[in-house]
Amino acid sequence: MLLDRRQFALSSTAVLGGCATVGTPRIADCSPLARVEVDPSRVIRTVAGLRPVRRQGFVVKREPLGDKALVHNYRHGGGGITMSWGTSKLAAELGLPGHSGPVAVIGSGVVGLSMARLVQEAGLPVTVYAAALPPETTSNVAGGQFHPFRVYSEDYVDDAFRAQFARALDYSWRRFQIMVGDDYGIRWLPTYIESDAPEAKPIASFPPVNRLLGRGEHPFPLDSVVRFDTMYVEVGRYLRQMIRDVMQAGGTFAVRRFAAPADLAALPERLVFNCTGIGARDLFGDTLLFPVKGQLAILEPQPEVRYAFQGRAGYMFPRPDGIVLGGTYQRDVWDTSVDPAAIAGILKSQKALFDGFRCVA
Ligand SMILES: Cc1cc2nc3c(=O)[nH]c(=O)nc-3n(C[C@H](O)[C@H](O)[C@H](O)COP(=O)(O)OP(=O)(O)OC[C@H]3O[C@@H](n4cnc5c(N)ncnc54)[C@H](O)[C@@H]3O)c2cc1C
Repeated sequence: MLLDRRQFALSSTAVLGGCATVGTPRIADCSPLARVEVDPSRVIRTVAGLRPVRRQGFVVKREPLGDKALVHNYRHGGGGITMSWGTSKLAAELGLPGHSGPVAVIGSGVVGLSMARLVQEAGLPVTVYAAALPPETTSNVAGGQFHPFRVYSEDYVDDAFRAQFARALDYSWRRFQIMVGDDYGIRWLPTYIESDAPEAKPIASFPPVNRLLGRGEHPFPLDSVVRFDTMYVEVGRYLRQMIRDVMQAGGTFAVRRFAAPADLAALPERLVFNCTGIGARDLFGDTLLFPVKGQLAILEPQPEVRYAFQGRAGYMFPRPDGIVLGGTYQRDVWDTSVDPAAIAGILKSQKALFDGFRCVA
């Protein structure tokens, strides 16, 4: 039996209370997807972070720094978890051939840690220098979806960049797949996207398989929904495990903030990878790099929710450490405090979405 949105709203109090009237199915019994319980009382934490965005996309390039080689690997926008292995692979190819001896990686977010692992996999010793370690990085704030979201703007890149991007995305896609499981907190989930939202546009060949659903195939109160499968990373667990991996392979960490490139020139290592994220703006004077602030409300975990959603209402990524609700984008805002009004807005739009779930026969 199908209920339309208005009928559902009229009967929702009884339904949600679990005492459906005769002839009105409980949404739990007639929806193929478990409903997310959105309510301020279920919020367990709120966070905010700055996406390191530049329209021209990530920077992977090599330049001299005194008698050293400096290889940049930063500016991953809203897709830094996604792109981390891939751009680090490109950076490794620029820096490692012909190098011997210890290597410095600056930055201990997702990009710096992947970089450090690739250096170790090439058989070289590494020290990670960082102003802050997890959990105090932007990477810890991320929702953790594997999707190259806002990594670059189409009008600002050329074919050479697109080729780099495609190679990096492909490497990341394959690398994350072989890490799926509890150790790294990575799992596959079906993802439902409101189909006329910008995120639904395929970027290059990603996601490889996606399908437009008919209204009878999903419970969302939306006309048009696309489904695809991708991976989700529980970022806190992932970064902890990556640190363990680096240490287990003999890597060391040093907490240190660099104020200028001259400070890097004084390091003992002759090869330095710059993985400083938004910090590269000040450190290297990259004024085209700007922050896009994002805020998240995390709800109590609901293990029965095994799908993700993205659309005008924002996004919902279910993780073992909580249901992540997000979707705010504030350009050029450097303040990382959480704004209660933004959180209230996220909760309101997502509550309307999930309370509007339809029965699907
Ligand atoms: C709300 C939100 C949601 C997001 N969701 C997703 C998502 O679902 N999927 C996805 O792929 N991406 C997502 N992102 C984007 C992702 O978080 C970033 O692109 C990624 O974390 C960037 O990683 P990074 O390692 O470059 O930077 P960071 O994590 O910021 O790490 C930078 C490191 O460099 C160090 N550093 C900086 N400056 C200096 C300095 N001067 N001296 C020494 N050390 C320095 C820092 O201390 C830190 O250790 C999201 C971002 C936000 C804010």
